[in-house]
Amino acid sequence: MVEVFILPQVRDFMNRLNGQFINGKTVVSQQDEVITTTNPATDEVIAHVATATSGDIDYAVDSAYRAFHGGWADVSPAQRGLLLNRLADLMIAHREELAQIETLTSGKLITLSRAFEVDYAVSFLRYYAGWTTRIEGKTVALSLPSANGEKYTGLTLREPLGVVAGIVPWNFSIMIAVWKFGAALACGCTAVIKPSEVTPLTMLRVAELAIEAGIPPGVLNVINGPGQQVGHALTTHPKIAKVTFTGGMETGAIIGTAALQSGFKRVTLELGGKNAAGFLPDVSPEKTVEGIIEAGFLNSGQVCASAERYYVHRSLINDVAEQLGKRLATLTPGNPMDDESRFGPLANRSHFNKVIGYFTRARDQNLTFIHGGGAFDLPGCYIQPTAVLARSENDELMRQEVFGPVASLLAYDSVDELLTLMNDSPYGLAASLWTNNLSQALRLIPRVEAGTVWVNMHNYIDPAMPFGGTKGSGIGREFGSAFIDHFTEIKSVIMRY
Ligand code: NAD
Repeated sequence: MVEVFILPQVRDFMNRLNGQFINGKTVVSQQDEVITTTNPATDEVIAHVATATSGDIDYAVDSAYRAFHGGWADVSPAQRGLLLNRLADLMIAHREELAQIETLTSGKLITLSRAFEVDYAVSFLRYYAGWTTRIEGKTVALSLPSANGEKYTGLTLREPLGVVAGIVPWNFSIMIAVWKFGAALACGCTAVIKPSEVTPLTMLRVAELAIEAGIPPGVLNVINGPGQQVGHALTTHPKIAKVTFTGGMETGAIIGTAALQSGFKRVTLELGGKNAAGFLPDVSPEKTVEGIIEAGFLNSGQVCASAERYYVHRSLINDVAEQLGKRLATLTPGNPMDDESRFGPLANRSHFNKVIGYFTRARDQNLTFIHGGGAFDLPGCYIQPTAVLARSENDELMRQEVFGPVASLLAYDSVDELLTLMNDSPYGLAASLWTNNLSQALRLIPRVEAGTVWVNMHNYIDPAMPFGGTKGSGIGREFGSAFIDHFTEIKSVIMRY
């Protein structure tokens, strides 16, 4: 492992951070409970982050509420767009600092932290900034006749919902938070973000930059703490108008229910997946292997849209398995802070133990490991890139979301069987079809049960393309113009004159 240079600004931030950023300032929480943040590449403790008290949670929501009613919704749309763009500029100016904080916290390769947590996040901010002046209502031709010569006119207004709670997971701690608060702020809402307990740091820095960008205090607040306490209190707070959640399916069910039971709050749920990639027989084993690497091993498989189920035609599966084993052997582990590293650790010890548990059970069930199936003999949370030959779609590795670097391969015989297998999951977040025959792909796409279907690619999201799940992968779509529906409400106005 190489020595890495940590920016003085990062050390500075680690020394001054506390736990909450509320109403434009770091708030020093009056309690002893802390989240201990550990670098998963080395197991070293890097920070202690104070958990929000109930007073902090109230203060954050009240600040956002006052900022909403005190003017953010009335800031001109062009000005809101300008401020979001200024924040984007500042994130680029602080790109290395943000990327280092993220990598030290989550073990994400520094190259990915730059590309996804900063550059991609900035693309979201710029995209939403471009929409602020385009959020509009309509005049509506009324369907009933008016009486006695009176005239009626119907209008719809698009109004921001109010204070949005953004509850986010650990796998992309900046990007996912940005895609939530960026959309909320663009629509005129204000936000309180609760990062995951695993990655509590980066959003505190982004919130500081938001103030530097000129976004008024209270518009963007960050509170930290365990989901079941702090997350729950935020979700059910009476002044929260909308909850936008990204995370696991079980948590989504709890949050969705709690949001509805506490005053019918609007809710968007972006949940997990057990995503499938189907390779038609015209795709060569070489291309199949590269497709599997693209679909399954980005960020060591800790991507909600990653594929974990791979369907390969029976005539090719042995060739694919052999070549995949060789290819995975080239994914050697490296220090995520090193630009040259291509494969990093998992984000924390408890997730590491969970993934090892899946491998142990798969071995007990006599599944054939093509490659990997254990940990690297290194300090830190390094799991081997792994591939198995599944026996049936009922194997645990074909049903449960592992959220790690594992590809499970299953043979199919006909295209109809391929579709049946791909759809045999309670999840429906994303899927990919791989073929040189685009007209066949176009015929198959409507039969795939997923919110996103890629053709000859995987894991590509774009701010302009709506993203979200079908079935157990969630409710609602973020990105694209769809975000406006989720952060605004239609008010109908009917006038007589
Ligand atoms: P998680 O569900 O355990 O936690 C997500 C967030 O919810 C955390 O901030 C947590 O503190 C909070 N939380 C937990 N219990 C809560 C409660 N009762 N009330 C309020 N908040 C609560 O998920 P995770 O382990 O952080 O992330 C991994 C999961 O996220 C995977 O299932 C992955 O597929 C999913 N994910 C989905 C998307 C998507 O866009 N669909 C993107 C990334 C990750």
